Amino acid sequence: MQHERGTVSPAARADTARLTIAMVGGNLRAASILRLLSEIENVYVAAVACAAPSAPAARLAEDLGVFVTPDHTEIFQLRGLDLIVDMSEDPRIHAALHAQKPAGVEIFGSAGSELVWDLLVARKRGEEQEKLFVELQVAYDKIRSHERRLQSSKEALERSNTELESRLAEIFFTHEFFKALTSYSTVDDVCSLIVDGANGILGAEISCVYLYECDEAVFRLRASQGRSERAYRQEVGVSETILGETFRRGLVQEHDVALGASSAAWAIDPADVRSQAAVPLRSGEQVIGVLVVASSTYRELSETELDRLQVIGNQSALSLQNALLHQELERLSVTDRLTELYNHGYFHQRLEAEVERAARFRHPLSLVMLDIDDFKEFNDRYGHPRGDEVLRAVADIVRENLREIDVAARYGGEEFVIVLPETDTQGALSVAERVRRSVEESVFHVAEEPASVRKSISVGIATYPVHAATSTQLVDAADKAMYDAKRDGKNQVRIAQ
Ligand code: GH3
Ligand code: MG
Ligand code: MG
Repeated sequence: MQHERGTVSPAARADTARLTIAMVGGNLRAASILRLLSEIENVYVAAVACAAPSAPAARLAEDLGVFVTPDHTEIFQLRGLDLIVDMSEDPRIHAALHAQKPAGVEIFGSAGSELVWDLLVARKRGEEQEKLFVELQVAYDKIRSHERRLQSSKEALERSNTELESRLAEIFFTHEFFKALTSYSTVDDVCSLIVDGANGILGAEISCVYLYECDEAVFRLRASQGRSERAYRQEVGVSETILGETFRRGLVQEHDVALGASSAAWAIDPADVRSQAAVPLRSGEQVIGVLVVASSTYRELSETELDRLQVIGNQSALSLQNALLHQELERLSVTDRLTELYNHGYFHQRLEAEVERAARFRHPLSLVMLDIDDFKEFNDRYGHPRGDEVLRAVADIVRENLREIDVAARYGGEEFVIVLPETDTQGALSVAERVRRSVEESVFHVAEEPASVRKSISVGIATYPVHAATSTQLVDAADKAMYDAKRDGKNQVRIAQ
């Protein structure tokens, strides 16, 4: 019989349920009560007895897997039946149920089922409300989380907007920086620009550019930013500090510098440097300088920032290389190859400027002209290369006797001139005498001669405005004075008339 089928799936529930119910009747109300009962945890609906298999309660029972029978007496055989809900509205069935029910089984008639209905509806309403409340809660949580997500995406948007703006500013700055790099031509200008760039692009608190001086194997400070210039060492040995490490290894970052570490000793007070990074400025394989950035607080440059530092280094180096080349070309264009003193052209240019300046400030200015005595004879006897050595030696002596503001040049073959700004005849005389004596005392070793060779110079002095009113007149006056010295026996100093 169908009994088995109907009890199969709800069987597990039957064990845990506290109330086992059978329903009689199949109308819509019965179906509603069946639906409500089936949703109650502790209730097990064991069977529905209904004459018409197509009645709403019978169909629902089929759906719910509840045993359905057209014969209401069959429900009396159900195990553990507690309650019969009689929804049949048929007095005969009602009477039969009452007469045949096993002892201990309760019957709810239409009045009772009315009550059950009301109770269930009330409970259901409560459940609905609760469900509604839970749904509301869920919806509320959803809205809140949406709101939060919205808020956070709004913040993210704002953040990326600010980032974008600062990135844009950086791009503009970088663009300006690179543009400026290509248009700056002096070494000092380029160096200043590099420290500005490091500050603007990386926000470096401190930045310095040191250029490598290969003759002396030192780095020399050329531009700085962040502190007073006195806060940095002017000269750093090529193997010292982070500069030395960068010289050997390339880009270096030290984001956690030990207090007063020697790697930070390019700063006069190394304890001022808490983090630092440096990038070499290269011309091909050769390091021509180092850009060092630092902070007095802990700061670690990110990969991107290090990349930027490298780019700044590369671009700067190109521009620096150009500026150095330009500087060297300029230096060469005003320098005499043999003696490394200024050449004739530059001398005239500077003399004119200095005479103008002397006139404006009403300062004296002296010109010293000197010529090596009997140099032709020396050349003829020992050869031109030896003559060149003497020329270089005399040039060195001249250089040693100069102040920063003096200008010495090779005027021609074995003739030299010295412009002495803000110097009267007396001052010029002492310079000239010093040089003359120094040459006289110099010993030139010549392999062919057992004894060393000595040379002398004849010197003429003229002073603006005492002996001349223009630069041309000044040259003439000094030249004449020099020939007076020659005529009077050489190896002496003569003052213009
Ligand atoms: P004085 O004492 O009258 O000046 O006699 P001097 O022989 O020095 O003068 P003179 O003008 O007759 O000769 C100048 C010589 O200087 C001629 C030339 O051989 C030499 N001379 C000029 N330029 C150079 C140079 O670049 N290198 C060398 N080695 N000799 C030079
Ligand atoms: Mg001579
Ligand atoms: Mg001469």
